[in-house]
Amino acid sequence: MGEQKRVVVIGGGITGLTSAYYLQKEAREKGLPINVQLIEASDRLGGKIQSMKKDGFTIERGPDSFLARKESAGRLAHEVGLGDELVPNGTGQSYILVDGKLHKMPSGSFMGIPTRVRPFLFSNLFTPAGKARAAMDLIKSKKTVDGDQSLGLFFRRRLGNQVVENLIEPLLSGIYAGDIDQLSLQSTFPNFYDLEQEHGSLIKGLRKTRPIKKPKKGEQKPSMFRTLEHGLSSLVEAVEARLDPGSVHKGTRVNHIEKQSGRYHLLLNDGTVKEADAVIMAAPHFAVQRMLSQYDFLAPYKETNATSVANVAMAFDASAIKKDIDGTGFVVSRNSDFRITACTWTHKKWPHSTPEGKVLLRCYVGKPSDQEVVHLSDEEIQKIVLDDLNKTMDITAKPDFAVVTRWYDAMPQYKVGHKERLTKITQQMEEELPGVYLAGNSYRGIGLPDCIDQGEAAVQKVLHHLYG
Ligand SMILES: Cc1cc2nc3c(=O)[nH]c(=O)nc-3n(C[C@H](O)[C@H](O)[C@H](O)COP(=O)(O)OP(=O)(O)OC[C@H]3O[C@@H](n4cnc5c(N)ncnc54)[C@H](O)[C@@H]3O)c2cc1C
Repeated sequence: MGEQKRVVVIGGGITGLTSAYYLQKEAREKGLPINVQLIEASDRLGGKIQSMKKDGFTIERGPDSFLARKESAGRLAHEVGLGDELVPNGTGQSYILVDGKLHKMPSGSFMGIPTRVRPFLFSNLFTPAGKARAAMDLIKSKKTVDGDQSLGLFFRRRLGNQVVENLIEPLLSGIYAGDIDQLSLQSTFPNFYDLEQEHGSLIKGLRKTRPIKKPKKGEQKPSMFRTLEHGLSSLVEAVEARLDPGSVHKGTRVNHIEKQSGRYHLLLNDGTVKEADAVIMAAPHFAVQRMLSQYDFLAPYKETNATSVANVAMAFDASAIKKDIDGTGFVVSRNSDFRITACTWTHKKWPHSTPEGKVLLRCYVGKPSDQEVVHLSDEEIQKIVLDDLNKTMDITAKPDFAVVTRWYDAMPQYKVGHKERLTKITQQMEEELPGVYLAGNSYRGIGLPDCIDQGEAAVQKVLHHLYG
């Protein structure tokens, strides 16, 4: 058995938890003498994942689910014994709010790109001219771009402004809380560029690679998301319970990192120093920049912004909703006079989360152009949300209770050029800080499965660094 190696994982969100879990597992299974320590600044693990139980409701204050087709999150749930608690989402009609009115999401569209003609032709989201412009995608020649471009520019060229503003923008902004005209195509949906290059058309490409079948009469739409019956925090707790005793340090912040004779010295907020042979930095980019502020190549991370969002979960008695909507929720286009950006009928999307006879609505605020809303008081945010909802619904009573959650600088913005900047930074890190790796939602994907993938990849890099 060789000399014991020390690895520190900084950040106990899903990325750091995954890293610590799989690294300890590899060490055990391969008999490698690695000591793994997980350091988390706050007094709880989970980062953005935060579920709460109240009066029989399960409320997600952060993410509520993950995409089932990206397999790493389901796999992790099975790993830690929660396979039986995975729940698929309830499906139903979803809507887009455009010019103050709710419109049905055209069926057969993928991220707003139509794959079936009829639902698109009959949609009242677009004018005849808008529909004709979108159909140009079938004949418009492809454009090869050297490097990156914005999502907005790409989709406008293929499908026209109307489809972008009324369908694609609200859907993608809902995921990235960003401005589609600034977000990077390469770092968000590189496969769409590949489809254009390979098939000359997004519609044709999607039809070939991702055929969306027309559901038969009475048939449910397939569910795309999964969550856990007792909340996503149950995944955090189950992973934590499987970490080696004494390896988790909560309420401990890494303030600074120094390289010394090929090892790393981590200065903690309690004044002590931890030594490490390798480090996985699973903290946001701006925290990384602060910990390694002596390295100029990380300076771009000082400027790279992340948007803030807030959400309000409101519980009602079903009788309080006089005019309901037959669906699972809506997203709001930026041309609407609304401050909310999305609303989920959580009791329909996740029926297990809500007691019988009750309703749970969860609404978001915090457009990139409306960041000040996140700083308002709970009461002010709640009023904005209820006023907006009452433009399309009729809610007569006050909620039984409401939970407001603010997430400051929580949604990193992958702006045009993100991948190139990340590649440069990664190369510099390899040269100047061998054995230090970046993982998490600031880098290669923000979805929970993307973060888990990055945690797993970081584990392999650490093993390669330590043992070749
Ligand atoms: C409101 C909201 C809703 C979302 N909804 C979904 C969804 O439905 N589905 C989905 O797939 N994704 C969703 N996401 C995205 C997803 O939740 C996040 O991208 C993911 O949880 C980030 O995990 P992470 O571990 O990379 O980072 P975080 O969860 O941010 O964890 C980083 C951790 O690092 C710690 N830290 C920071 N600095 C230091 C330091 N110096 N020393 C020690 N510790 C430090 C922090 O305290 C934090 O705990 C949502 C995000 C938000 C904000």
